[in-house]
Amino acid sequence: MTDLDRLASTLQRLDGQSYPAYKRATGAYDAGDFVLHIDHVQGDPFADPSRLRAAVPAATAALPEWALATPTRRRATADFLNRRLAEALTAASHGGGSGKSGQLTVLRPGQQVLARASMAVREDGSVTARFRAGFPAEGRRILGNAAAELLTQAVPGAVRRALLFQALSADDLRTHVETVEDSVALRAQLEDRGLVAFVADGASLPRRSGVDDRPLERGIVAFESPDSLRVELSTPNAGPLRGLGVPSGVTLIVGGGYHGKSTLLRAIERGVYDHVPGDGRERVVALPESVKVRAEDGRRVTGTDISNFITGLPAGGDTTCFHTVNASGSTSQAAAIVEALEVGARCLLLDEDTSATNFMIRDARMQALIADDQEPITPFIDRARQLHDDLGVSTILVVGGSGDYFDVADTVVAMRGYRPGDATAAAAEVARRLPTRRAAEGGSWRPIRRRAIEPASIDPSRGRRAVSIRVRSIDRVEFGTELVNLGGVEQLVEEAQTRAIAYAVARAADRARTAAVGLTDALEAVREEIEREGLHIVHPHFIGELSAFRAFELAAFVNRLRGVRGAGEVG
Ligand code: ADP
Ligand code: MG
Repeated sequence: MTDLDRLASTLQRLDGQSYPAYKRATGAYDAGDFVLHIDHVQGDPFADPSRLRAAVPAATAALPEWALATPTRRRATADFLNRRLAEALTAASHGGGSGKSGQLTVLRPGQQVLARASMAVREDGSVTARFRAGFPAEGRRILGNAAAELLTQAVPGAVRRALLFQALSADDLRTHVETVEDSVALRAQLEDRGLVAFVADGASLPRRSGVDDRPLERGIVAFESPDSLRVELSTPNAGPLRGLGVPSGVTLIVGGGYHGKSTLLRAIERGVYDHVPGDGRERVVALPESVKVRAEDGRRVTGTDISNFITGLPAGGDTTCFHTVNASGSTSQAAAIVEALEVGARCLLLDEDTSATNFMIRDARMQALIADDQEPITPFIDRARQLHDDLGVSTILVVGGSGDYFDVADTVVAMRGYRPGDATAAAAEVARRLPTRRAAEGGSWRPIRRRAIEPASIDPSRGRRAVSIRVRSIDRVEFGTELVNLGGVEQLVEEAQTRAIAYAVARAADRARTAAVGLTDALEAVREEIEREGLHIVHPHFIGELSAFRAFELAAFVNRLRGVRGAGEVG
């Protein structure tokens, strides 16, 4: 009698009993070719489904050496297995019964290939999947036979269909691995080539909609770089690839409305991630330290030094340590830039569609009407060159409305009918012919005042619970007693990233308090833990629904917390 047979009879014996009796099923069961762990059983049929884990030894997973050879390949392989498991579990789910009875779920990846707690592929070839099953009930009565079928037939079947190499398409796995490896290789060449982004010829950039990240189904105009901006990069699997190389410096994306400017910028934004084969953006890459910044009026700002952009507010107040619970468009955008620089941004991405006009530009006529000492804002146009020349931070900026920017641009890409052209020389010629007559403002760039977050000000507790975190959606998190809004953080791509960030911050804050270290050190320690053990360690129950995230998005989360105080102001 195998462990699974034993589990089946245990579950059958529970038939008709009240739901909590299911707890007896907790444990590890050897299924022969893998071990099924029932780590935690839900308290009732409507609660989050029970947590399961499948540990597949290397010998039965039998993944080929090429799928495991490097960390990048293992990440791609894990992502591939995750997708297959999601399909297999969906197919094996049974409806019927109350609440979440019979539901089998695992984190559903989007278009990006990320490290996730839901699937770990180790160097030795072993595989661990973390997923969930809704234990079946009618009302609150256990459906023992349905449970036995679900856990000893449906689940093992899905695991074997999704996680054993023999059941998979080797060609598809290889394409997945090679696509990701090429994307990583392209990104790694940017720096040496003096580029901040690369968009390969043939790429498909437009998406189905703002909430559907899959490629547009029909009528896509394939990307085609202009000769003068075309570069060739090499890849280990697809050979040399040509495409648009966006040089470091200040780059404008100009063009008429609806000609594809924002679509290009958005693809570059996502170029910090690797994409699945067929996405259309597999060969669109950006420097890993590229950060989209936008206006986000109404957001909270806590002690950020925005004085390079804003000084002398009418209400007074120190803008080297700026506080507000309700930022304006311009102050929020200034804060977003400085907060990105604090974490090491090297390329800022801005779109006029989501920027505050008065933050971007103040033209000669407005300068003539409103005296400099009456205007607190130094517009971005006066900082873009300094950011690059003094700090080495590039900018890619979508601008259809203000030709004043021609004066500060190194490169001008003109979109026309979704096709990029090189308008650098033409824009320089226009700038000579039609001088703007505006005066530079703001003087030189001043070093940003350093700020440290006081760990005690990060409080995920609620009532008697030390950590109470509920992720409602990709951009809404209940963290302790507050609701954090991440709507302005555009490079988050999965809800599971948001969840991982919230738990990582809670863990770091706790560690900082108990070990009496600063938050930055504590966050670094958590990052090392993740590196060593896997992403699941950020959550107290080692759940699977956690995806890898960047330091920029984590900082964006911390910077939007209500209670956060800068260490300089702790009384
Ligand atoms: P802009 O920012 O210049 O006003 P958008 O980038 O918002 O323009 O694009 C306008 C529309 O064109 C969008 O609906 C987008 O999906 C579509 N689009 C963009 N690029 C392409 C393309 N290469 N092929 C087909 N449609 C595209
Ligand atoms: Mg636009």
